[in-house]
Amino acid sequence: MPTTRRRYAVLGAGPMGLMTAIELLKAGHEVDLYERDDRIGGMSASFDFDGLRIERYYHFVCRTDEALFELLDEMGIADKLTWTDTAMGLYCDGRLYPWGTPGALLRFDKLGWIDKLRYVLMVLKTKGTRDWRALDRLEATAWLKRWLGKRCYEVLWEPLFRLKFHQHKDRLSAAWLGTRIRRIARSRRNPLQETLGFIEGGSETLLERMREAILSRGGRIHLQAGIERVDTQAGRVSSIRVRGEDIPVDGVVTTAPIPYLPRLVPDLPADFVARIRAIENIPVVCVVLKLSRQLTGNFWLNICDRSIEIPGVVEYSNLNPGSGPAIVYAPFYMPKDHPRYARDNAAFIEEVIGYLGKLNPEFRRDWVLATHCHRYEYAQTVCPPGFYAMLPPMQTPIGGLCVADTAYHYPEDRSICESVKVAKALARAALA
Ligand SMILES: Cc1cc2nc3c(=O)[nH]c(=O)nc-3n(C[C@H](O)[C@H](O)[C@H](O)COP(=O)(O)OP(=O)(O)OC[C@H]3O[C@@H](n4cnc5c(N)ncnc54)[C@H](O)[C@@H]3O)c2cc1C
Repeated sequence: MPTTRRRYAVLGAGPMGLMTAIELLKAGHEVDLYERDDRIGGMSASFDFDGLRIERYYHFVCRTDEALFELLDEMGIADKLTWTDTAMGLYCDGRLYPWGTPGALLRFDKLGWIDKLRYVLMVLKTKGTRDWRALDRLEATAWLKRWLGKRCYEVLWEPLFRLKFHQHKDRLSAAWLGTRIRRIARSRRNPLQETLGFIEGGSETLLERMREAILSRGGRIHLQAGIERVDTQAGRVSSIRVRGEDIPVDGVVTTAPIPYLPRLVPDLPADFVARIRAIENIPVVCVVLKLSRQLTGNFWLNICDRSIEIPGVVEYSNLNPGSGPAIVYAPFYMPKDHPRYARDNAAFIEEVIGYLGKLNPEFRRDWVLATHCHRYEYAQTVCPPGFYAMLPPMQTPIGGLCVADTAYHYPEDRSICESVKVAKALARAALA
């Protein structure tokens, strides 16, 4: 037990908020976890998809996700992690190619030998990189073009950057891109076989165990209880406002997307607010389809084709065959002011269904058993060169107020594993 037992409010019940609450409870403090949504999980939350419990967004695990493995162990569910040998595909100029193996690269007819050799060298070099500080200062597309040449970049990467990052596509950090390439490249059983993992029952299995760990330690979880405001006195947090009620606290840890902070904490100093406002995010509009038949044999299908306006589709049932007949996720990333963002969910669903006949010419409309579409406004942080220096410190200038969100996964991309790691650092900052 600590000498002084503090009362913490943790904001957000995604994996980061749940993990932070567990760490603060382990240190002997009193913890209330507040979540605006009607369920725990944030981006990893599940929903009832026409009788099937499934995540709003697909989730796979990589062999490098050490902090996640430790947590599964701690929660007593290490046996729920299952590995599948997965296949990757590439839809390019009207044709579906196998992808992700040396043989597939050799057979790919859109690139010459030199391009292919440069591609392999880039992946090998990135796979072996451990220190990302030098790449932090480089811009990703220029770095890629230097490695791959202009043609290879334009065939394989330009459509992905354009459809995911739009006006931000040429201002991303090479370190952010490099860690993504490395994570996937290292998730292999051998050089020829990609292996990805999933948690039986989905992320919900883990989230539920985390919920139990919080409740069993005396923590409280409040759903549909968004924190409306954090108030301060003499430079320290003093209370939070929830459902119109002011509740005194000794410390506040927020794991909600940081763009919410300036409104939530009116007393944040202007220079700190300016640092937060400099960080941009891209929303996702993610279509999920339940099909009566397998669409392709691939888990991940990259799309580099001018006639399709999504960077790829994920056929989750090829990773987790128990998840239903065939489950396909199709994420659209676009800024909120993009004209297409204003369309309703049905338009996005129809657009995806319209593409499926290209990916599999046998596809028929009557394969579609159920559809769903979900949006998350702060789905992907834009991490420009020099992002290490842009991130505001977790300990804010206000005493007792610590903050982080998925931007703090940098240089790694967002993942449940990184949320767990950041949560531990956040709890340490709050306890310091
Ligand atoms: C399309 C997509 C695909 C993904 N694929 C993978 C994958 O394959 N593997 C993987 O590991 N990860 C994946 N992720 C990432 C993973 O889902 C996230 O890294 C993780 O869920 C982030 O959790 P978090 O707790 O850090 O943040 P969030 O999930 O953003 O949680 C923040 C929470 O704060 C709540 N909140 C906001 N404002 C308030 C307020 N005022 N008061 C109270 N609560 C508030 C929100 O409702 C939310 O629940 C994917 C994400 C997306 C969008």
